[in-house]
Amino acid sequence: SLGFVDNIVKGLNPEQLKAVTSPLSNMLIIAGAGTGKTTVLVRRLAYLIIRHQIQSHNILAVTFTNKAAKEMNQRIHDFIGEQNTRYLWCCTFHGACCKILRNFANQAGLRPNFKILDTAEQTRVVKECFEELEIEKTKEISPKQYASYISELKDKGLRPHHDFGGLSDIYKLDDVYALYQDKCNKTNVLDFSELILRCVELLRSNPDVKNFLNGKFKQILVDEFQDTNSIQYEWLKLISGENSNVLIVGDDDQSIYGWRGAVMDILNRFYNDYPHVTLHKLIRNYRSTSAILANANKLIGYNQSRFTEKNLITERHDTNKVRVIQTGSPDKEAEIIAQIIKKYKAAYHYKNSDFAVLYRTNMQSRAIESAFVNAGIPHRIIGGLRFYDREEIKNTLSYLSLILDHEDDASLERIINVPSRKIGKVTLSKIKTVASQQGVSLFDACMLYCKANKKSLGIKNFVDFILRAGNEFDEKSRDFGIGDQVMNLLVECGLIEYYRQKDIDENHDELNRSNNIRELVDVISNLDVEDFDNKLDFPDEDSVTENENSAQNVSDIAENRKEKNILPEPSADTVSAPEEHVSDRPALTPKDILRGFVTTVAMNGDNDLGNSKNDDDSGDTGVNLMTIHSAKGLEFPCVIVAGFEEGLMPHGINKYSFGDSKKLDEERRLAYVAITRAKNNLVLTFADMRMSFGNFFSGGASMFFDELDKDYLEYYVYNSR
Ligand code: ATP
Ligand code: MG
Repeated sequence: SLGFVDNIVKGLNPEQLKAVTSPLSNMLIIAGAGTGKTTVLVRRLAYLIIRHQIQSHNILAVTFTNKAAKEMNQRIHDFIGEQNTRYLWCCTFHGACCKILRNFANQAGLRPNFKILDTAEQTRVVKECFEELEIEKTKEISPKQYASYISELKDKGLRPHHDFGGLSDIYKLDDVYALYQDKCNKTNVLDFSELILRCVELLRSNPDVKNFLNGKFKQILVDEFQDTNSIQYEWLKLISGENSNVLIVGDDDQSIYGWRGAVMDILNRFYNDYPHVTLHKLIRNYRSTSAILANANKLIGYNQSRFTEKNLITERHDTNKVRVIQTGSPDKEAEIIAQIIKKYKAAYHYKNSDFAVLYRTNMQSRAIESAFVNAGIPHRIIGGLRFYDREEIKNTLSYLSLILDHEDDASLERIINVPSRKIGKVTLSKIKTVASQQGVSLFDACMLYCKANKKSLGIKNFVDFILRAGNEFDEKSRDFGIGDQVMNLLVECGLIEYYRQKDIDENHDELNRSNNIRELVDVISNLDVEDFDNKLDFPDEDSVTENENSAQNVSDIAENRKEKNILPEPSADTVSAPEEHVSDRPALTPKDILRGFVTTVAMNGDNDLGNSKNDDDSGDTGVNLMTIHSAKGLEFPCVIVAGFEEGLMPHGINKYSFGDSKKLDEERRLAYVAITRAKNNLVLTFADMRMSFGNFFSGGASMFFDELDKDYLEYYVYNSR
């Protein structure tokens, strides 16, 4: 293990080394962008296992995005190997809550096979509530808006029929919320905010579960802490016991979800709530050149409220200044960006994937995408819910979900008529009536309906298909592989042909929709047990009823765990010999694996689907396009920030709130995050004018240019539209 330790501390600067190797205690690392915070967190984790002999099942590492969690897992593996990290929980807040709730579903009042509702589905449920409550939609009173109110209330820990504070006066919000929650409970689905709130409530109300988890998680590490909201903070407090040590890592200057909770407040609370917190600062930036850093430092210096002043220093002196490019219009801007990429590629021998184009709002990507298509630049869009928001992806997932779980009414409704099976509205509403009268799922109602109406072939074929697919899935997957079997099913139900036809009709360039489905199937083909071993523990098919009365006290929980193999807890010798414990675990069937994928995919909105393809064969994956929000924690040799202009950056909604310096500060932090993603080259572009839906939207140089360091900027103007 000495070799491991050498490796863990290799190359660290004195401050980093001190943080990584310090004795066990609560720790706060607060430091600027690119100073090695994530590096230190990863190495500290490895050090805890190797040097402090902490078992991996006693460690919880939490971060904000799935991409970050995945990278973190990878890096820890690389340091200390697979067997030392087998039982580590390294996931997002939501992922951790999801795991806990599945393991303690009964205690949380859930069935263990609950599903995660994504934002679009959440809105759909709210829309149903609107209809049932006969609320008329207006611009202000919309299902989407109410869905976001509901999340906001949940993030504040508020349930229906309570004082909603600032949201108290909103028309019928309480009624909508109550009905919405009722529906979710009945159908066993949880939205994102519910995952956290439900977990907090479980920990608050069930001391046995709390004690168990407090004992389990002896070491807790949290990255990107600046974006923790107050309910997540409460969760952290509940999950960490008196004897746990917590390490939090963050940068107040990079807090970009201000609406989620006040960062300063939470940092101070941490300081006060946890005993003997040692504070570590890192100031040496290893990511960016001096020109990039000078601009970042100067800009963030204009912020009014900062936890600590930080002036980052770098070793990387470089003659390249930051480039500012003025253009006439968004299309021109996009065209220039494409040109720059081509030029830089030749000049600096960059790969496509060395570039990131960052923007403030999603709508900016359209112009850039089409310029890239014209210029023949391979690219991919990272983050957001885009991929999973696409209709064809949702429908594919709905098919899979219904095959695995006949009670999934929402999925059935999505796909019963896609492709068209000539099932009319009247028939559908009859089926719904049957379902609600008999208290059965829509799928069961379809079966009843078929029996009574022998002529309804469309429904009969559909039902037969779903049943057959489910019955044969495991067996056929063993013959064909999961991915191919999924593909067979999608062909059989007509979905592939349906979208291929649609692609052709809509004159898509390259069969976009059917290719998206293929990409999803690709991901499914590459799933394996390992993917889920650390992510989720699957309840057995019949554990639902068996578990009902168990786990009343800690020993029951422990007993239950042993039997079901949930929350695996190997004996003390794991570090050297983990193998026996692995073989103890029940083998996952292809169905289990697919279920794991389908039920968690809603959470993987910012999953990097594009990555799964080329990463291993060292292929070049294409220029990365993403919003600044999804670029958090990442770095690229060359970064181009598009739309560095008034109305976008700072964004219109925040810019005009004069007197509210907080909002402007937040915009500045976003700009700071964008700038600090760059390692070698940074380009800031803007358009003189931007129209949206025919209206003037924004344009002209951002006020932030005045706050950058002129000595390290050079201007170019391309004025023609
Ligand atoms: P962010 O605030 O953007 O999340 P961070 O503080 O987490 O950044 P890291 O991503 O850990 O910073 O590190 C930034 C870059 O610096 C990485 O490429 C990392 O490998 C490198 N780095 C960190 N520490 C050192 C070091 N001591 N020597 C050389 N390179 C380092
Ligand atoms: Mg980081």
